[in-house]
Amino acid sequence: MRVLLVEDDPSVAAGIIDGLGISFAVTHVPTGAQALATSLEGIDIILLDLGLPDMDGTDVCREIRKGSQTPIIVVSARGDEIDRVLSLEMGADDYVVKPFGMRELVARIRAVARRTAAAPAASEGSSETARTLHGLTIDTRAQRVELNGEEIHLTPKEFELVVYLSEDPGAVYRRQDILHDVWDTNWYGTSKTLDAHIAAIRKKLGSANWIESVRGVGFRFGGPS
Ligand code: CA
Repeated sequence: MRVLLVEDDPSVAAGIIDGLGISFAVTHVPTGAQALATSLEGIDIILLDLGLPDMDGTDVCREIRKGSQTPIIVVSARGDEIDRVLSLEMGADDYVVKPFGMRELVARIRAVARRTAAAPAASEGSSETARTLHGLTIDTRAQRVELNGEEIHLTPKEFELVVYLSEDPGAVYRRQDILHDVWDTNWYGTSKTLDAHIAAIRKKLGSANWIESVRGVGFRFGGPS
């Protein structure tokens, strides 16, 4: 597995490289600019520090997402909820707070890689890889969402959430089930993360009605109005 590690602290970087062991080939860069200059071709996962000397990690995350869907795990000493939510909004797939155990980090990497790999594989051979609801086409094979023919750019997590909620349009999905199924069971964030993703999806789709809130319960996939 090939990892791009963006970390300015040499001792933290050395610890991660050492801890990941031989099954991971790590490319290490210490700045945001170098991270953005690195080709992501063949990179399976990006481990991204937020406190970088030249730019904020959340900005690096957003820049990467403009051109790549490579999974990103933010690895940061900043455990504040605002940083977590912002990172996830910028397209990160998971968030690990320093100090962390290497076993935890490896488990997160494997979980994110599994989720990212599972989506296209699961639909292979299936005749129904795309569904259209009220002009919204969700193509799980191509990992694309189009609204009335216009592509909507979703982060990998937003895409997963849309796929999940649109499995059974109109059905109410409970918050805890969404967090369990779309995020991992070891996800320790609060449901504010979920709200941030829902808000981002609604904004991108141009209407809050696409995902209706069911007070005290969860969410239901709706339509444009
Ligand atoms: Ca740092």
